[in-house]
Amino acid sequence: MRNIRMSLKGFWKAARAGFMTQLVVISALVFTTEMCTLIHNPITTVIFLITPFTLGLMFVCFTLSPFVSSTINTYRLSRHAIEIPTPNEIKALARAMGINRKFKVKIVPNLFNAFATRSTIGLGTKLLDVTNIDEGRSVVAHELDHLKRANQILLVRILSILPVLIVSIGLSNSTVVTLPWVSAETIGIVGTITIYLAIFAYSLLATMPSNWIFELRADKTAKTFAGEQSTIEMLRKLDKKGNPNENSITHPSINSRIKQLQSENNHRNIISNLSSNIVSSIKGMKHAFNVY
Ligand SMILES: [Zn+2]
Repeated sequence: MRNIRMSLKGFWKAARAGFMTQLVVISALVFTTEMCTLIHNPITTVIFLITPFTLGLMFVCFTLSPFVSSTINTYRLSRHAIEIPTPNEIKALARAMGINRKFKVKIVPNLFNAFATRSTIGLGTKLLDVTNIDEGRSVVAHELDHLKRANQILLVRILSILPVLIVSIGLSNSTVVTLPWVSAETIGIVGTITIYLAIFAYSLLATMPSNWIFELRADKTAKTFAGEQSTIEMLRKLDKKGNPNENSITHPSINSRIKQLQSENNHRNIISNLSSNIVSSIKGMKHAFNVY
C-alpha cells in the first residue's frame, strides 16, 4: 500500500513538474481529438469518450490549473498594487530604450515576480527585496522591453492563434455519431468539453515559440542596459523552485536564458541548448519513473 502511494506520488511529481510530459499530453490531446472528430464511426466515438477526454483531464491537471492559478495569483495581488511616481532612473532608462509614451510604475505587495502590460510595469516587493540595484535595473529593463513591444506581442499572438481557431471552427461543428448505450447528451457534453480543451491546448502550443522569443529578446535588452552579470544573477534569483533546466509554455528554462546571455552567437546556441534541454528532460523523466 505504501509502495503504491509512493509510486502515485512519484508519478504525480514527475508528471506535474515535467515540461516534456505537458508537451506529450497536449500533442496527444490535439491529435486524438482531431482524429476522433474527423472519422465518424462508433469505434472512434468510444475512443473519443475515453482517450481524448482523459488526456483533456491530464491537460487540466498538468498545464491549465498551474497556469490559471499563477495568473489568478498575480491578478489578485496586483489589485493591491500601489502606483508610484516614475523614478527618474526608470524615466531615463525608458528614454534610452526609445520608449516615448507615458507608462505607470506599480509596486505589487507580496509578489515574487514582475510583469508588464501595454501601459504599466508591475514590480513585486518580494522580488525587489532580493535584488540589488543593478539586478533591479535588469528586471525593469526586461519589463520595459515587453511594454515597448506590447503591440508587436499582441499581433504575433493573434497571428499564431488564428490558424488554430480556423481549424477549430471545423472541429467544433463536427458531429460525433450516437451510441446505443450512451445518451446523446453525455456524448455532447463530454465531446464539447474535450474539444474546447483541445482548442485551448493547441493555442498554448501555438503561442509558445513567440513567447520564448520575446522573453529572450527582453533578456538581451536587460543585458544591454544592466550588464551581463546582474542579468544572470537576477535570472538565478527568479528560479525559486531550484529547477534551472525546466522550460515552461511561457518561458525558456533559466539555464537556456543564461546561456543566451553568455554567448556571442545567440541563435545557434539557443537551438543547441534547447535540444540538449529536451534530451535532458527525457532522461530526467526516465530517471523519475525508474526510481519509484
Ligand atoms: Zn518576461
